[in-house]
Amino acid sequence: MKTLKSFDYIIIGAGASGCVMANRLSANPANRVLILEAGKNDDSSDIKDIGGFVRLWNSDMDWAFSTSKQTNLGDRSITINQGKVLGGGTSLNAMMYVRGNRKNFDDWKFKGNEGWGYSDVLPYFLRLENFEGGVSEFHGVGGDLSIRPCPDEVMRSPHFLEAAVELGYEGPNWDYNGSEQANGSGFLQFHINEDGTRCSGATAFLHPILSRENLTVITNAQVRKILIEDGVAIGVEYQLGTEIQQVFAEQEIIISAGAFGSPKILLHSGIGSKEELEKLGIEVVADLPGVGKNLQDHLQLPMIYRSNISMEQTTLLTGNVLFVNLVNEAGMVDLQLNFTPSLPAPLAAILPDLGGPVCIFLPILVFPESRGDVQLVSNDPLDAVQINPNYLANEADLEVLKKGVELVRNLAATKAFEPLNGGEMVPGMASEDLEGFIRGNCSTLWHPVGTCKMGNDPMSVVDAELRVHGIKGLRVADSSIMPSIISGNTVAACFMIGEKASEMILNSNSK
Ligand SMILES: Cc1cc2nc3c(=O)[nH]c(=O)nc-3n(C[C@H](O)[C@H](O)[C@H](O)COP(=O)(O)OP(=O)(O)OC[C@H]3O[C@@H](n4cnc5c(N)ncnc54)[C@H](O)[C@@H]3O)c2cc1C
Repeated sequence: MKTLKSFDYIIIGAGASGCVMANRLSANPANRVLILEAGKNDDSSDIKDIGGFVRLWNSDMDWAFSTSKQTNLGDRSITINQGKVLGGGTSLNAMMYVRGNRKNFDDWKFKGNEGWGYSDVLPYFLRLENFEGGVSEFHGVGGDLSIRPCPDEVMRSPHFLEAAVELGYEGPNWDYNGSEQANGSGFLQFHINEDGTRCSGATAFLHPILSRENLTVITNAQVRKILIEDGVAIGVEYQLGTEIQQVFAEQEIIISAGAFGSPKILLHSGIGSKEELEKLGIEVVADLPGVGKNLQDHLQLPMIYRSNISMEQTTLLTGNVLFVNLVNEAGMVDLQLNFTPSLPAPLAAILPDLGGPVCIFLPILVFPESRGDVQLVSNDPLDAVQINPNYLANEADLEVLKKGVELVRNLAATKAFEPLNGGEMVPGMASEDLEGFIRGNCSTLWHPVGTCKMGNDPMSVVDAELRVHGIKGLRVADSSIMPSIISGNTVAACFMIGEKASEMILNSNSK
């Protein structure tokens, strides 16, 4: 076994949160920082091209996880694509930038996580951003992340936006990242550069600092486990090709391997449910039964309409949105409705011929009540984990999607939408089995979170400073720490988690 010299900080995973932390922790030349990434370099042109990401699905830059058969989805197993490349999910996501609802963060704080309420986290979001529309109370400029409202004219849909206004919502230029997220129609915002290329975690936070002498980036390095001595995390064991190597940290190790990767590493390190670890013959270091539990994900349900207007095909996937609260009794936004006025080229390339112009409504369940889990199947760190999101296990989730379909039909029936509306094609008004349509057709929006949740109850894994309970020198900072999922695409919150974690780490260490 080869042993590398030691570093101050070792970050595991170069995804949304990991790239931000690599940047911030290495800003001080006195800090020696190592970032280990299981995937390869992000030099593929399909990453730069904003329409290219669908070509990366199931490639060597995608973990392409599969869930167990989902009882409530007609026993279907769902593929959950996840980035395995510098940038992680931000190198192959659809680039929508949604902070979430202020209630999401206030709820995290209410659950005992001091410092994570909306007013606490907003400054970290602002620090990250370079918003095309200029600075305001709710938008940052001068940050590393380029944010802009739907930059594709074809994707902007006055018909959809005005239809929402006709139904009584605010709009048609509602800024959901502004003072209120819900009940207004407006353009989606994206993390896209001014020149129309993808602005990923890697291009924004890592590429510009690769020349820093105190930063080491190792790709194709899959971490197997954390090395722990007397309750202190001292190093990391990782796989580089067929070789197993070790590297040591003098200050801290931060796991940022995403909602499937992070709990997996903890479990292989002996941090998890004592009972489950013992069954697999893994020595228990900390009995934390919540590791891998509390898995949440968003579900999308495409509804296709024939369109009376033929538009040119473009590369951006969508452009318009409306957030609403349909079912959740606490008033959480539980439905996001995206609208795409013409079939984008990346989708046209993978869908069967639809026989003419179409437009697509995409109701998304964004505040699910169902909870699933991630489990090890063996004590071999190279084996895949078993993923069970338990989609639609809670009836309320089905109800949200049913009401989402109703909302789409009401929008389509407005006067404002009439010029576009060539009739509902999928599921089709004649289809009587709405529940069957939902169960048979909904799928992941690739937003798994929550598997190393932050809190102080017995099922929590990290505290409000993101330190793993009972272990010194070890934090988790990524999508897995969310106690509950946010009501909207998850990447913005993951960038914010990286920014806030960096500050907490730097404040608590000596240099
Ligand atoms: C197809 C797709 C579309 C999406 N669209 C959007 C969107 O439009 N808007 C939005 O907000 N969100 C979107 N998302 C979700 C968003 O990208 C994620 O929420 C976000 O990237 C999660 O950040 P993270 O830091 O938790 O993990 P990730 O970004 O997933 O990064 C984790 C990194 O850790 C690495 N890793 C894992 N295990 C190990 C290990 N053992 N050793 C070393 N490295 C490891 C991974 O390879 C990966 O690079 C999408 C995701 C996908 C996959």
